[in-house]
Amino acid sequence: VTLLAIESSCDETSAAVIRDGQVLSNLIANQKVHEQYGGVVPELASRAHMQNIIPVVDQALQQAGVQKNELQAIAFTQSPGLIGSLLVGASFAKALAVALNIPLIAVHHMQAHVLANCIDDPRPSFPFLCLTVSGGHTQIVLCKDYLDMEIIGQTIDDAAGEAFDKTAKLLGLPYPGGPLIDRYAQQGNPHRFHFPRPQVEGYDYSFSGLKTAILYFLREQTEKDPSFIENNLADICASVQQTIIDILMQKLIKAAEDTSIREVCIAGGVSANKGLRKALQDEADRRGWHAYTPAFQYCTDNAGMIGYMAYHQYLAGQFAGLDIVPSARGSWKRAEA
Ligand code: ATP
Ligand code: MG
Ligand code: FE
Repeated sequence: VTLLAIESSCDETSAAVIRDGQVLSNLIANQKVHEQYGGVVPELASRAHMQNIIPVVDQALQQAGVQKNELQAIAFTQSPGLIGSLLVGASFAKALAVALNIPLIAVHHMQAHVLANCIDDPRPSFPFLCLTVSGGHTQIVLCKDYLDMEIIGQTIDDAAGEAFDKTAKLLGLPYPGGPLIDRYAQQGNPHRFHFPRPQVEGYDYSFSGLKTAILYFLREQTEKDPSFIENNLADICASVQQTIIDILMQKLIKAAEDTSIREVCIAGGVSANKGLRKALQDEADRRGWHAYTPAFQYCTDNAGMIGYMAYHQYLAGQFAGLDIVPSARGSWKRAEA
């Protein structure tokens, strides 16, 4: 089975060709226009998707060495995401599916992030737990099968990626700041500064208190010493990153203990974080888990993961009608407490 997948939920325009669950190409066009605004501007994102989508799809086909008439289905991200951005991918996918007279597959972006762990070896076996940490979500997912997963915990306010990005903004770093904090943190002392850990029930998370604590901390310190940030950047980044990692790992450990599941994955943009990857591996070594992390290209938004999930939907006969519409909020069942 050869599929073309399109991802356009936020500010990456991506296309991938997948054959029998193997990613043959995975092209990602990052949108630079948002940098000067310190965040993604939805209007500009949809416009950039429109400019990018045809060249990105052409390159994905070319790199895979696949002709359009060899495609057997078109997959696209249906939800969640920015509605204007999703609409570009959905419209393009529909048009191409009609033109080629092949079926359409609607993919849930957050579920695809989870399955990114299954694209390459080593793969987790079912059931596994996945901590999905991205720009808009923080979830602990219990994944029982490719198309059978449920959310057992999630953030009640900010996402982990937002905590990274908002901290970076307070430090005067450009958007998106997560990768930069990761880089500075490698030279810093993670135990130099202490930030509060929220008390949240069950497997849920909260990051808004941390953001406020960092804001007040930086304000207080720079009043005493205007060069405080400059002189302590690595230690601040390392300490904030360590706090976020501790918060994330605490609930993941609890979930693993309560479910007795030892197959543990991370996914989403923040799973590219070196500190988080190390914390997961350390915990795995300590607790006898098997830990998994997607390859870097499948951590942040990419069509490869969309196509991989679509392949399993194809096998299950889950196709979408041409009347399908994208949705900004991807409602998805949450396990009963
Ligand atoms: P969602 O998937 O929730 O809709 P999104 O698709 O925008 O959100 P991703 O592309 O999966 O999110 O991830 C982007 C986020 O990952 C940003 O917040 C970015 O700062 C963060 N991020 C990327 N690399 C790193 C890193 N090395 N360390 C920390 N954060 C990172
Ligand atoms: Mg993004
Ligand atoms: Fe994403």
